[in-house]
Amino acid sequence: MHFAALTIFPELIAAFRDSGIMRRAVESGAVTLQAINIRDYALDRHHTTDDRPYGGGCGMVMKPEPLAAAIRAAKAKLPEAPVILLSPQGERFDQPMARQFAAHQAMILVCGRYEGVDERISEQWVEAELSIGDFVLTGGEVAAMAVMDAVTRLLPGVLGNADSAEQDSFGANRLDCAHYTRPPEFEGRPVPGVLQSGHHDRIRRWRLTDALMRTLVRRPDLLHQGALKNEEAALLRAWYGEIERIIQMPGGGGPDPSPGDGQER
Ligand code: SAM
Repeated sequence: MHFAALTIFPELIAAFRDSGIMRRAVESGAVTLQAINIRDYALDRHHTTDDRPYGGGCGMVMKPEPLAAAIRAAKAKLPEAPVILLSPQGERFDQPMARQFAAHQAMILVCGRYEGVDERISEQWVEAELSIGDFVLTGGEVAAMAVMDAVTRLLPGVLGNADSAEQDSFGANRLDCAHYTRPPEFEGRPVPGVLQSGHHDRIRRWRLTDALMRTLVRRPDLLHQGALKNEEAALLRAWYGEIERIIQMPGGGGPDPSPGDGQER
């Protein structure tokens, strides 16, 4: 995967490239990441990349000429790469989209600043606008790093077995299970016994149940996105049966008595 990030703060992208799993991915050759400084393509000796908005009003707008020249330079190196503009107005970036981009060979990411980029850049060059959420950042660099990070960890060989992406949240229409490490008891809170049992199948089922239950509570919408496997359906049914039993217990609720049945409310 070849990334080119167009920015007026290349040092932000360089720090990201040189840290953690991204650094490992670059060193292994799974990824190249070039930070292209838009200022290098400015036309004046002050390297100006912004100007006042037509029509007046507050804020500045990113000038089209340096941006177009920087995009042309990136395209010359990565002709197949889609040009992506990071924008709060774009399509919401998510895990399925990360998987789609991971199947590409390259991406050119344009990081806006100020009030955004001159609209003619979007019209002429941009194939997709991506948002990382319904909030406004001061610049597109953090958003571009989020996109590159999510895509990179899906590339073959980037994550070791220890941090495989398959079990992660959204890997299979559900959230990840809870995780614990040593010590076995921390501030009065023990690690669930099953995780210390060494019994691989019981541990696997505990993790699957925990993942399903927390998805049901926190993000039930995810469970609607794909058919449950037989084992998943069976685990949910077992919990449903357990909940039913608790409700039916004497004094545990039970079906609402109908009005006028003489019972106190
Ligand atoms: N005036 C713009 C608007 O309200 O739609 C916001 C501009 S924002 C201050 C500057 C830049 O940050 C944008 O051009 C974009 O590149 C980036 N940005 C801000 N929020 C973002 C988000 N939620 N997702 C992706 N990029 C974002």
